[in-house]
Amino acid sequence: MAERSAQIVANLEEVRRRMAAAAHRAGRSPTEVQLVAVSKTYPLEDIVAASAAGQVDFGESRLEELWAKVEAARDRQLSPLRWHLIGTIQSRKTREAVGPFTLIHSVDRTKVAQRLSHDAVAAGQRLDVLLEVNVSGESSKHGFSPDELRTESAALLALPGLQIHGLMTLAPYSDDPESTRPFFRALRQLRDELATRHPQSDWSQLSMGMTNDFEIAIEEGATLVRVGSAIFGARTP
Ligand SMILES: *Cc1c(COP(=O)(O)O)cnc(C)c1O
Repeated sequence: MAERSAQIVANLEEVRRRMAAAAHRAGRSPTEVQLVAVSKTYPLEDIVAASAAGQVDFGESRLEELWAKVEAARDRQLSPLRWHLIGTIQSRKTREAVGPFTLIHSVDRTKVAQRLSHDAVAAGQRLDVLLEVNVSGESSKHGFSPDELRTESAALLALPGLQIHGLMTLAPYSDDPESTRPFFRALRQLRDELATRHPQSDWSQLSMGMTNDFEIAIEEGATLVRVGSAIFGARTP
């Protein structure tokens, strides 16, 4: 157990070092990029270990698991953590996505955005969210197509229960991380376009980059990277 904790701490340090190096390569300050440690499938003990090493932001894909960990962390009276929802929300489960979460990265279609907004308003909340974009067009990926987002951005911005802060994407997996660069660049360009069209809104956040490709994403402007296996080890599916 102690060995496992020490490994997580060492992995975290290595990820942070690589993040800073990528930021410097791109002439950016490392403080512009936040690390979301993706703890899905891993137990609370691993979150405790990372938290003791100064990690504050944690990401989970499934609402059930997220809520269980939020409550377990509360019961254990861990120092306050920031929770990020990064997985697909089923449209009939939007009410469960209204909670003590710092940011929802995965608002991936209009119906989900509308229902989330409705449920947030009913709970007296305004949720901080990102819009997920399917930049690659792969059918296995969730998210708005870039054209859909161009058409629907004004209506999405008008939803009273959501506060949009930017965009999120997943690049296609590749053994060659360099091949992900065009997808990250396309997300940034789409963000710039939307920011020009809606300058009164906040488009500051770009959530992109995972274990395989976070350095490329940082070079292309990521402000949030979502890294799991490089910190906690490979997940058994
Ligand atoms: C699991 C997951 C990650 C982290 O993946 P790793 O390859 O383990 O870093 C990032 N983003 C999303 C949306 C995920 O589901």
